[in-house]
Amino acid sequence: MKTNLKRVGFVLLGFVLMISLVACSKSTSDTNTTPDETETSGKYKAGTYTATSKGNNGDVTVEVVFDENSIVSVTVKDNSETKGLSDKALERIPVQIVEGQTLAVDVVSGASNSSKAILAAVEDCVKQAGGDVDALKVAAVTEDKPQKDSELTTDVVVIGGGGTGLAAAGSAFENGAKVIVLEKLANLGGSTALSGGAIAATGSRFQKEQGIEDSPESWLTLWKERQSTSNPDSKYPDYDRVLTFMDDAVDTTHWLVDSMNHKYKSVEGFGVDPVARLHFPEVSGASIIENMQKTLNDKGIDIFTETKATELITDDKGDVIGVKAENAEGTLIVHAKKVIIASGGFAKSEELMKRFLPEFVEDMDISAAAAGSTGDGIVMAEKLGAALYEDPWIIGLGFASRIPELRVLEWDPTKILVNEKGERFMNENSHYAVVTNKVASNEQVWMVIDSSEANSEVIKSIEGQLPNDEIAVGQTFEQLAAAMQVPEAALVKTMDTFNAGVASGKDAFKKDAKMLVAVNKGPYYAFKINPRTMGTFGGVKIDENYRVLKEDGSVINNLYAGGEAANRYLYNQVYMTGSAVQYALTSGRLSGAHAAKAIAEGK
Ligand SMILES: Cc1cc2nc3c(=O)[nH]c(=O)nc-3n(C[C@H](O)[C@H](O)[C@H](O)COP(=O)(O)OP(=O)(O)OC[C@H]3O[C@@H](n4cnc5c(N)ncnc54)[C@H](O)[C@@H]3O)c2cc1C
Repeated sequence: MKTNLKRVGFVLLGFVLMISLVACSKSTSDTNTTPDETETSGKYKAGTYTATSKGNNGDVTVEVVFDENSIVSVTVKDNSETKGLSDKALERIPVQIVEGQTLAVDVVSGASNSSKAILAAVEDCVKQAGGDVDALKVAAVTEDKPQKDSELTTDVVVIGGGGTGLAAAGSAFENGAKVIVLEKLANLGGSTALSGGAIAATGSRFQKEQGIEDSPESWLTLWKERQSTSNPDSKYPDYDRVLTFMDDAVDTTHWLVDSMNHKYKSVEGFGVDPVARLHFPEVSGASIIENMQKTLNDKGIDIFTETKATELITDDKGDVIGVKAENAEGTLIVHAKKVIIASGGFAKSEELMKRFLPEFVEDMDISAAAAGSTGDGIVMAEKLGAALYEDPWIIGLGFASRIPELRVLEWDPTKILVNEKGERFMNENSHYAVVTNKVASNEQVWMVIDSSEANSEVIKSIEGQLPNDEIAVGQTFEQLAAAMQVPEAALVKTMDTFNAGVASGKDAFKKDAKMLVAVNKGPYYAFKINPRTMGTFGGVKIDENYRVLKEDGSVINNLYAGGEAANRYLYNQVYMTGSAVQYALTSGRLSGAHAAKAIAEGK
């Protein structure tokens, strides 16, 4: 489905406004907007109803207006769904319900939780209005839409509309190429849109303007220190390429503002990384996507959403000459001189996680990575003989509890973690990717909190859920150990040692004294935590120009890759804050430029 995103956005916005206006005019003419108490002979008790359902990030509240025979309007009111990820669901599902007078509406790909929340809340309103939910859930019989094959020709086709893909498209266009972007989900953005959007660079003009002194050497020292915290025999990072990346990152940081209309809100440090080298956007990674998307729309670059690339097309020499894709209308063949794989990592592919990172499969449900991160481009390239980087790893985002109410504690470094032996195992005030690795290296990790005032809110929020397999409770550390099924003597010793360290200001794991908070007021609560990923290190091997390589080191002609589809060489097992979005944008920018210049030179 070709989408002129801007136009469709306006049409949908207009439609939503129209529906809202209908609702408003009904409210005013009806004098009251509460349910009509009198029985009617129609399908519904006319009136305005509200209901709430759980979405991706919390409650989604919906207001539905009924007249006697129809659903007049559906308006999504309060919600905390992720901007950029859920926009299409919030726009499209209400419109489809009203247009079709139906609850048999397809969820929006990549925003299924938001879609389901809206549908569930509307269903609740239908029940309140006395409507027949079952009848509304029966899909109208429609004639199967005939599928058609279409073909397009361009210079560069980009697979994936996240950070890498939009940067590649903008850069290829800027360097004279005609470009098409294919995105399989309804919204652009991928993990880039979900990220904080902070990009690291050393020595940018934005740092200089603020008098911040920084150098690649300083970042490199930190990089080496972090990468040495696990997997000592790793072949990666390739530090020559890390240094090249750091130089290129500065140019990308400028280019994003100069060519893609991006803006930085501030340049700051974060957590245990005090050096101010993170260039923060106004809101989040969604701001980067929004600004790039608008720029590409203004340039007239064709972006096809809900169009999934399925296969790379080659000629009889094995050179890549295009992409095959599928969408609601049928098959789309894009003939192109160059193809850029920008389809992200594989944290959401059970098949690839089982193959490369089986130890993280059971925690895939709490991965923060975007739904589209299923490694499609990596698999497509592998079929053509692309070499894959050895020894993939996860990009760590700390840890997560499976109890949503406990998520507020995930970023609190004053808390302490113990393992299945009842022992602490690290300074909890460490970089979150290091924490993920340490948590993953234990069989079971618990966070232990006490009943002091600081924890009262969170304890109140879980009390109704007890007993619960994820939470252990004890009046004393001995009782807590029994509930956790960890060795009692070990846990008591751990807690006593910790509390003595808080009193003396000297922690056994050298945690900063400012981060030491005693755990000494029963009852005590321990809850299970699990490693949380936000992406993967791995993908296809590439040369210094982002061209995809075969096992023998030769390039697959006309095929490029970047972002999480080809990022292994920069890291061992620890993500560096601000480097992944930066790498997505930098690899996109440079692969797009190289592809366009090669075309211009007839290569
Ligand atoms: C919650 C979260 C927070 C993060 N915070 C930070 C941060 O602050 N700083 C940082 O540096 N990094 C951060 N990261 C990591 C970083 O965002 C990613 O590593 C990076 O943005 C990946 O970019 P990408 O372009 O490779 O992939 P993506 O941005 O995921 O884009 C890939 C796109 O390709 C699409 N696609 C996949 N398969 C196909 C197909 N077959 N056909 C068409 N389209 C397809 C996907 O739907 C997706 O839109 C974070 C990640 C997450 C999830």
